[in-house]
Amino acid sequence: MGGYFRLQVSLLLVLVFVTSVCLAQTDRPAFTPHPVTDSITMLEPSDTNGNVGVFAGDEAVLLIDSHFERNVEALINEVSKITELPISFLVNTHIHPDHTGGNAVLAEKYGVTLVAHDSVRLRMLEELRIPRRGGITFPQPAASARQVITFSDALSFHLNGEEVRVFLAPPAHTDGDSFVHFKHSDVLHLGDVFRTNMYPIVDKANGGSFLGMIAAIELAIDIAGPETKVIPGHGEEVSDLKGLTEVHSMLVLLRNRVQTAIDEGLSLAEIGERNLSEDLDARWGGVPSWTFADLLPIIDAELRENTE
Ligand SMILES: [Zn+2]
Repeated sequence: MGGYFRLQVSLLLVLVFVTSVCLAQTDRPAFTPHPVTDSITMLEPSDTNGNVGVFAGDEAVLLIDSHFERNVEALINEVSKITELPISFLVNTHIHPDHTGGNAVLAEKYGVTLVAHDSVRLRMLEELRIPRRGGITFPQPAASARQVITFSDALSFHLNGEEVRVFLAPPAHTDGDSFVHFKHSDVLHLGDVFRTNMYPIVDKANGGSFLGMIAAIELAIDIAGPETKVIPGHGEEVSDLKGLTEVHSMLVLLRNRVQTAIDEGLSLAEIGERNLSEDLDARWGGVPSWTFADLLPIIDAELRENTE
């Protein structure tokens, strides 16, 4: 009888544990705020999609990226915990739907002015595509999701005693990647050019470039100082110059290894058999929808193009 009772109690404990784990998962807020400075916050989504930047001072509120449409009300709710002011502006760092999905609701329902590089708006005029799992398409965004202000090179906001410089980076993740530089606050938001949790996604269909990715990270390293805080497009923590140099070293290592193999006369298939990323996969290769196997053909093609 005692054994039966203990079994019952054990089962009950297991049930309580499993239930609490499930509840913990479903109860997790859609966004976790990471304060960057007094006026800048990174909102990290629980689904690991694009991080949102919030710049809120006594004059106006500017958002960087709008996540997916399904989370836009949760996003606005999170912003309302930071500031009582309405959101005035949204900057999209690039075209992908986890960075632009909330655009239409923000513009239509909340009167937010949408801003991005010319290329981003052009790509809003057709169905969207992301490169993961061999390519996934999304319906063309509504007309109200399109940016009303676009720029070809750079644009500045003068808000809350700050100059917020938004400028086109070299083609890297896509061909319309914007960096956002808060000059006074010494903060950079680099969109998906900078990921701290996985190999870089180079979206060739949207104009991305692996070698451009190295150039773009080098540009960010040039801008950043030892105190600069850097918001990654994806990643759980606010990063810095050290985080940038860590990514840069990984990119350069991969470039050099693939170039050496090409110089030896190996084909892409033969390079694939060499496991060139073996020592890097534990740190960067944990996301099954985009691994070194997805990146290698892109690096290989760009380097062969350069060699010819
Ligand atoms: Zn992206």
